Amino acid sequence: MSTHYFARYAHDPAEWTDIPAASREKLAGELLPDLMSVVRHISCDDDTTRKTLWRLHDGTLVESVLMRYPDRVTMCISSQAGCGMNCPFCATGQAGLDRNLSTAEIVHQIVDGMRALRDGEVPGGPARLSNIVFMGMGEPLANYKRVVGAIRRLTDPEPDGLGLSQRGITVSTVGLVPAMLRFADEGFKCRLAVSLHAPDDELRDTLVPVNTRWKVREVLDAAWEYAEKSGRRISIEYALIRDINDQAWRGDLLGRLLKGKRVHVNLIPLNPTPGSKWTASRPEDEKAFVEAIARHGVPVTVRDTRGQEIDGACGQLAAAER
Ligand code: SF4
Repeated sequence: MSTHYFARYAHDPAEWTDIPAASREKLAGELLPDLMSVVRHISCDDDTTRKTLWRLHDGTLVESVLMRYPDRVTMCISSQAGCGMNCPFCATGQAGLDRNLSTAEIVHQIVDGMRALRDGEVPGGPARLSNIVFMGMGEPLANYKRVVGAIRRLTDPEPDGLGLSQRGITVSTVGLVPAMLRFADEGFKCRLAVSLHAPDDELRDTLVPVNTRWKVREVLDAAWEYAEKSGRRISIEYALIRDINDQAWRGDLLGRLLKGKRVHVNLIPLNPTPGSKWTASRPEDEKAFVEAIARHGVPVTVRDTRGQEIDGACGQLAAAER
């Protein structure tokens, strides 16, 4: 059974030809119940990006995105249906948290993506998955046990798991400090991405409400501890929002905080949600912000915003369906 699922991505009992036909349905019902079904796929970027909207067994909607680049394939998956972190600029945050996903629901997004790639369903010919990012709906570390369970299933060798590399997995967090410290003790080699969005507590308290609980300094200290224990660079995610957090002096402050650390800054041009006052920075402000960080010798790049034309900001597809 686990060979069929983890090594051959075969969820459909009709494909388990080494098991007597009479037993297949019974086994499937007991061990691999239908967890979730595809509502629809949406493609864009010349079909190299494919977004999947899933309906879970209780009707809850979540999404995953498969992004194909010349040298790699990345899948962005959800760990929760909705998100309870309430960041005001984020569509998912506005809708609140529906529920945590189970380990199986998290893993199945990947198994299905790997199967689609193997079977050549994504244009460009058959391929293998190289990276997984927990950057879809939800705060992964708020669903700690199931996310850690999913990482084990993804990285355990076949047939107990999918045999993927921990180094190819990125877990993002808004800065749940106790969970970050616990995660550092798991011994994983995954990358940790911290969604900072502001270098000062005054602004971050409003952009990322959980900052009222754990401050920028504490979040970064927990990140450095993770970097130390995992040997991996920390990714700092920063959505650039026009006239809100994109001033050059904030770039300078960010550069000072990160100087000399094992870190990389990912600036994300905000993908505006319809009817929202939050929008992307002007090009000249973005440029000045990048320069202010780079002046401190901190590596910084502006992320390519895949999936924009299909509502690429997290949660928007599911929000539209509701
Ligand atoms: S930005 Fe991330 S953490 Fe904040 S509400 Fe949206 S999904 Fe949740």
